[in-house]
Amino acid sequence: MALHVYDHVTRTRRLFEPIRPGKVGMYVCGMTVQDKPHVGHMFAFVACDMIRRYLEHLGYAVTHVQNFTDIDDKIIVKAAQEGVDFRVVSQRNIDLYHRYAEDLNIRPAHLYPLVTDHIPEIVAFIAGLVAKDHAYASGGDVYFRVRSWDEYGFLSGRHVDDMRSGVRIEVGEAKQDPLDFALWKSAAAGEPGWDSPWGRGRPGWHIECSVMATKYLGPHFDFHGGGRDLLFPHHENECAQSCCGTGQKYVNFWLHNGLLFLGDKKMSKSDGNFFAMGDVLAQFPAEVIRFFLLNAHFRSQIDYGEERLREAGAAYERLRRGVRRLAERRASGAAPVPEGLLSGPGEALAKAVREHRRRFFAAMDDDFNSAGAIGALFGLVRDLNQYDAAAGAELLDAGPLDEAWALFGEADAILGLHRDGLAGLTAVAEPVVPQAVLDLAAERDAARARRDWAAADGLRAKIAELGFTVEDGPGGSAVRPAAAGAD
Ligand SMILES: [Zn+2]
Repeated sequence: MALHVYDHVTRTRRLFEPIRPGKVGMYVCGMTVQDKPHVGHMFAFVACDMIRRYLEHLGYAVTHVQNFTDIDDKIIVKAAQEGVDFRVVSQRNIDLYHRYAEDLNIRPAHLYPLVTDHIPEIVAFIAGLVAKDHAYASGGDVYFRVRSWDEYGFLSGRHVDDMRSGVRIEVGEAKQDPLDFALWKSAAAGEPGWDSPWGRGRPGWHIECSVMATKYLGPHFDFHGGGRDLLFPHHENECAQSCCGTGQKYVNFWLHNGLLFLGDKKMSKSDGNFFAMGDVLAQFPAEVIRFFLLNAHFRSQIDYGEERLREAGAAYERLRRGVRRLAERRASGAAPVPEGLLSGPGEALAKAVREHRRRFFAAMDDDFNSAGAIGALFGLVRDLNQYDAAAGAELLDAGPLDEAWALFGEADAILGLHRDGLAGLTAVAEPVVPQAVLDLAAERDAARARRDWAAADGLRAKIAELGFTVEDGPGGSAVRPAAAGAD
């Protein structure tokens, strides 16, 4: 099988063929940096990182461009509230993005263009659309004329006539049609702005991506990523602007990742602490968060929450134990079965490794199904355990054991399971005890000190509910994870 990728237009998976042989252009809609990154943002970047790593594994030279929207109404409001320049707000959050991306083992993009560094190009692109009558100036703003492009709606599967009822012209907008959207917005006095043929103003949101993507990747490029919530209107509008502006096709394959849901509602800022990336990273190792996000197909909706992350943590440890046991066996010094020969268990293992390798790559070829690929790795861990049980300590079938090791190595390079690769996967990690559990343990110590045994027992039960046990010793209490699940 070769790589097949979901195609939004035909609604089927289609064989991937690069536009330029051996090369892949990939644009990822980055953050609007008015606030700290949250888990939902980082999911998109983890997913695109996995996709890029797989394309590189297949031998493509990938150019990965990811913008930051560093000027926007929300950034302006935030800066005004804080009494600082808008750049202070955007730079602070850009720095946070880079820190979390590194934690999550996301490879840096080749380029991180900023909107404010591309104003002349944006103005020129808009002027081109105006010249072709796909856009018009009105009251200091410039709008894209949606009905000037027959294909509008093709990406999101909507028809312009059905969209009419849902939109209206807001106060202060000077559109000719409610469907039209802003390419350029006039700046009020005191607001950040740049000079343009239409007066002082700033770009609308959608136009920056058309301009920066086509500037760095050419008018027609291979992949464009972003959250499912960007499909409409952002990406639909990007397509319209780009196709009308360049007269060429825009994106070959769209990579829309699913959204995170808490229970059955989409996550939002009101969900409080367990949402900001920094807070989640304080409670769970970055590797576990990444593993959790990749343990579902990137296009699917993800059921998110502390319980789900704890389960992912236990599964991740199972996988690590499997890799560690394999490393120990290969280094055990047992006499290898002579080359060219296999023991009975060795023969079964050789067959299993071939099958799991086939499954791993079939899953990745199936629209980057990292969840299926991870499933193949767990299958390999199970078969390695069986080999251990059948072969005992004396046998060492080096051939299939080396092949299993090689598969873990390739899988780690593609999925980015650990920042330190196989060495990190096989290292024995100290169990991480979340701050919330440590706080409960401290509360329990205080209850014991005042001989309030009922309260202490209640707190012990609460700690147990979170998956930890507390033991009292002469030096005080110690908390550790409850016995981890069996393999
Ligand atoms: Zn974008």
